[in-house]
Amino acid sequence: MENPLYKTTLWQNYLDGAWQQASDGKSMESLNPATGELVAQVPDSSKQDARDAVMIAKKAFRSQDWAFAPEKRAQALYAWGNRLEAASEELAQLLTAESGKPIREARYEVGRAISYLRYYAGAARTVYGRSTALSSDSYSILAREPVGVVAVIVPWNFPVTLLMRALAPALAAGNTTVIKPAEETTAITLACIRELHATAAFPPGVVNVVSGFGHVVGRQLVEDPHTDMVSFTGGSDTGREVMRVASETVKKVSLELGGKSANIIFDDADLERALPFVISGIFTNAGQLCTVGSRLLVQDTIQARVIDEVKCRAERLRVGNGRDEATQMGPLVSEVQLQRVSGYVNIGKQEAQLITGGNRLTANGLEQGYFFAPTIFDNAPESSPIVQEEIFGPVLAVQPFHDEEEAVALANGTRYGLAAAVWSKNIDRALRASRRLEAGTVWINSYNKLAPEVETGGYKESGIGRASGLEGLYDYTEIKHIYIETEGLRE
Ligand code: NAD
Repeated sequence: MENPLYKTTLWQNYLDGAWQQASDGKSMESLNPATGELVAQVPDSSKQDARDAVMIAKKAFRSQDWAFAPEKRAQALYAWGNRLEAASEELAQLLTAESGKPIREARYEVGRAISYLRYYAGAARTVYGRSTALSSDSYSILAREPVGVVAVIVPWNFPVTLLMRALAPALAAGNTTVIKPAEETTAITLACIRELHATAAFPPGVVNVVSGFGHVVGRQLVEDPHTDMVSFTGGSDTGREVMRVASETVKKVSLELGGKSANIIFDDADLERALPFVISGIFTNAGQLCTVGSRLLVQDTIQARVIDEVKCRAERLRVGNGRDEATQMGPLVSEVQLQRVSGYVNIGKQEAQLITGGNRLTANGLEQGYFFAPTIFDNAPESSPIVQEEIFGPVLAVQPFHDEEEAVALANGTRYGLAAAVWSKNIDRALRASRRLEAGTVWINSYNKLAPEVETGGYKESGIGRASGLEGLYDYTEIKHIYIETEGLRE
């Protein structure tokens, strides 16, 4: 299919409403993880480029043309959503080329991103504050105001949805922004911004993009004294570093970090319904998903049956190039990711029982890509790194439990707290367990259901703040107290 976005290989930064090279002319390559082919050349920007972008965003914020114009913001966000919808197939193709994810997942992702945008377009006109009368002649207004310049730093695993989940509420609340795309998925980020540019609905300087490395551009955006807030989605170790650097200038931070989520199956669960979610819960996007159900906690009475079933289903998955409509699982995003996953799998082979997978796939046209077999370990000990650490690959660790008490203890037994699921026909038990789980999201008899309307985020080392929903909008605001005394005003 003719695909103009896919054919564009040279991308530029977006600053003050115009396209620009990195100031020193450097660029870096974005490669297709299924084939090793060049997808795009993107700017390798300097710290100075990041500083310039922050000052551009600051000027746009102070012009008040955006911060005090909620209807204009709503219209601009809706206009962008319409452009993205018109370009959605091209965007999905580029997303698959750059990230490796199956085209069906890419189409779904672009659709979700548009849904986020439209949700926050509506919310832009509802950033209400409060007021109260403190006495007969004194009043307080509590106004919600934008924070200022927000640095939006995003990862590669869902580069379109996660960009929109952070950027749309930041813009809806009236902030101006500087985006730092992930190195691996810069072209798809810039392609979305190309559609924004085409709307001509955003004042120059409200949205800026500086492409480059995390330790250069990302770091500068976080330490810059003119950045007012950092919205970071990525790994917990990087999040810790972001928080440490942001503390130097006492910046507001929103952190959406890693996870090691437990999918808990009691012996009264509807297995026909649960098993497809176990499989999609771990193998969607080749396991490169923050809320991935990477720990399967199974009641010991049904362990053997569940293991047989998930093994069969995992072995039936069609692994291949995401451009093929029949592909169910694509490659890992990069060589680095392949090494990381292989390292954990080697540990797993020492410490647990390998049920299926456990190796790189190189046959039948997969030799140029970073493909890894869907992998399952049974009887994984609680202390093992494959149970405790985020692998971010298609690797499932199964842990048996005897009763509800043990299930909750095992589920809570890592430093993460992003998500969890409980499968049981006994709603009393399912609700009781969900209240005791240390996780920002708990699904009962389902998995991975997220929506723009509902808050999500991390307990423990999985993050600070909430994304989505109204709390996700309020995270991008400050509250100002304005006190009014009327006595002195009387005639
Ligand atoms: P990462 O932390 O390596 O990088 C994320 C972003 O931060 C990238 O744009 C990177 O360039 C930038 N960065 C790197 N070093 C930086 C620094 N010192 N200062 C500022 N920015 C810096 O994460 P990744 O490998 O791109 O993504 C995978 C991780 O993201 C996983 O841990 C996953 O769980 C997490 N994640 C979390 C959520 C969530 O909602 N909680 C969603 C998606 C992904």
